[in-house]
Amino acid sequence: MVSLDLVRKAARLLSGRRDAVALTGAGISVESGIPAFRGAQGLWEKYDPGEYATLHAFMRSPRKVWSMLSELLSACEGATPNGAHLGLAALERMGILRSIITQNVDGLHQAAGSRRVIEYHGNMDALVCVSCWKRFPARDRCAEGGVPVCECGQILKPDVVLFGEPIPWLAQEQAEEEAGSCGVLLVIGTSAEVSPACNIPVLSREAGAAVVEINPEPTHLTRTVTDIHIPGPASEIVRILVSELSRAVLPLSETGPRD
Ligand code: NAD
Ligand code: ZN
Repeated sequence: MVSLDLVRKAARLLSGRRDAVALTGAGISVESGIPAFRGAQGLWEKYDPGEYATLHAFMRSPRKVWSMLSELLSACEGATPNGAHLGLAALERMGILRSIITQNVDGLHQAAGSRRVIEYHGNMDALVCVSCWKRFPARDRCAEGGVPVCECGQILKPDVVLFGEPIPWLAQEQAEEEAGSCGVLLVIGTSAEVSPACNIPVLSREAGAAVVEINPEPTHLTRTVTDIHIPGPASEIVRILVSELSRAVLPLSETGPRD
């Protein structure tokens, strides 16, 4: 049962602001049918990250790593945005949410209509050749299963950040800029175990922002940087948050110009 009190507390923080930013993780897409890495039914219950999610593992045994990536890719392909993705897009349209920094690679924020999305870990949509760096849409090369290959004969890697790879420089710059200048940071569906993404809430907090965490479970952020932790599923909480904020905004706009 979601605490209405806590959601209202968060709504009060957000009301009237135009500088909120969201940091999202795999948990926000769980209700769209994409498994997260950690937590119940997470992919790490089946796959050891050291063997399946590092650049080193990929280069050594691409076939093995592609077996996990194919599972994630097909989950992403069939998925549609849920209430949490749609709610964040609504908050952007309302002028409250300035941007989303996402660790997700599923494209669901954009599918929901969010426009200012920083993809911190890349996107599963694109594949890149490990040798000549040519890029391909994933759907063109993954159709037959197995390890997709480039025209040059070398293996293709999804354009996502594996452990051991740097964050794309533009995403890193934009994320630091957004996180360091927001008034409220909404941290949704992330275990905050992956570095350097886990430093983003710390950066916001140190710059004076309030941190609202939406996650069924507490994380190590909950005790250290979070101001309000709302336990529960993201879709329901964000839906209530948007409806509370719409109520706060609508009576003003419904009155129209006063002449
Ligand atoms: P994570 O897998 O480490 O943790 C998921 C978190 O989401 C947990 O804390 C869990 O309690 C929470 N959660 C589960 N269900 C939820 C719900 N309904 N609402 C809100 N929260 C919920 O995820 P992470 O911190 O993003 O780190 C994992 C890495 O895995 C990221 O870098 C990401 O790139 C990648 N990943 C992405 C996807 C995707 O794009 N959808 C899927 C799996 C993994
Ligand atoms: Zn190539």
